[in-house]
Amino acid sequence: MIPYGKQQLDSDDIAAVTAVLQSAWLTQGPQVPAFEQAISVLCGAKHAVAVNSATSALHIACLALDVGPGDLVWTSAISFVASANCALYCGATVDFVDIELNTGNMCVNALEAKLLIAKKTNTLPKVVIPVHFAGQPCNMAKIAQLAAEYGFKVIEDASHAIGAQYQGKAVGSCHYADICIFSFHPVKIITSGEGGMALTNQSDVARKMQLLRSHGITSETTEFNEESHGPWYYQQQLLGFNYRMTDLQAALGLSQSHKLSQFVTKRNKLAQQYQKLLAPFNRIMPLQVQADCYSSYHLFVVRLTGLSKTHHKACIEHLRGKDIIGHLHYIPIYLHPFYQQQGFQPGYCEQAERYYQQAVTLPLYPGLTLKQQSHIVQVLTDFLSNDL
Ligand SMILES: *Cc1c(COP(=O)(O)O)cnc(C)c1O
Repeated sequence: MIPYGKQQLDSDDIAAVTAVLQSAWLTQGPQVPAFEQAISVLCGAKHAVAVNSATSALHIACLALDVGPGDLVWTSAISFVASANCALYCGATVDFVDIELNTGNMCVNALEAKLLIAKKTNTLPKVVIPVHFAGQPCNMAKIAQLAAEYGFKVIEDASHAIGAQYQGKAVGSCHYADICIFSFHPVKIITSGEGGMALTNQSDVARKMQLLRSHGITSETTEFNEESHGPWYYQQQLLGFNYRMTDLQAALGLSQSHKLSQFVTKRNKLAQQYQKLLAPFNRIMPLQVQADCYSSYHLFVVRLTGLSKTHHKACIEHLRGKDIIGHLHYIPIYLHPFYQQQGFQPGYCEQAERYYQQAVTLPLYPGLTLKQQSHIVQVLTDFLSNDL
């Protein structure tokens, strides 16, 4: 069976985790700050806050930007549900911006048009969460310009995009955003088992996220609002959570981070091979990577044009029937029953729904071979020539 994605672990990774098991600290030890330091250096951001998932990172990122009841948060219609749920955790309202068909990313023209209307109706968002879909950075320069013009904050959901670059700078530098979050789930670019991280250049935002990930508790004497009662003393200053990453996870993440550029280079090479193999088939259209972007290629997504809904489904079933786990990332978030219960209806984002009828994710991970890729393309194109 060829899965759509999988982790690549080696003996260094196993040794790093074993060393933690033999140490004094399973959690709240030295590995977490070491992992944070490594990622902040790799990305060129001042602060990095490790947590137990990207979902948690999105939640505390929203809270650190003071998202609460009465606020609006906008995200991309095509993403994993966590990109939207984080706003609801804070009691805010979520809304969706349509995508660009050829990249799968939030469409900046749709964003601008929606902002113009929102300004007139006094419903501007407090935060916009662009998602670097499949590993390709969004048009962040334009989003930052709109953020300045309309007064919203920006959280990049870069769950797919650690190791990617935008205008020559690493995603995570927060050059065009307030906060950038990563996921270290095993299907993502590097893994810590489960895990996430929030990066920022703003020290007050970083500190708030550090407090929120651990119950809102501080042990820093200088932060107490009264004199310390003694060496045991700490204060809860906010309503936080237990979103901490363990040292086991951080050791794995740190070890994996040394291989980040190697993994991303390999993913780009595999993507190029797919593009070459698919080039003769003009109805199979891989997502396009823009000139100022270097994708981390978390996913290799193609759009199949001219297929009916039934044939599109049959195509993914056909791949699976041949032990190739084709996938579909993602159903437009607002079409989930939970979101339809909140009042969203089919037809809300036209491009997102067109995309959902065309997209297929082909397997992509560093261990995939050229031979397997040729086989995948063969199975796919056989289906397309037979079943129309
Ligand atoms: C994977 C993913 C998340 C959530 O990541 P976890 O670490 O599993 O919580 C959020 N957003 C996007 C776009 C993702 O792909």
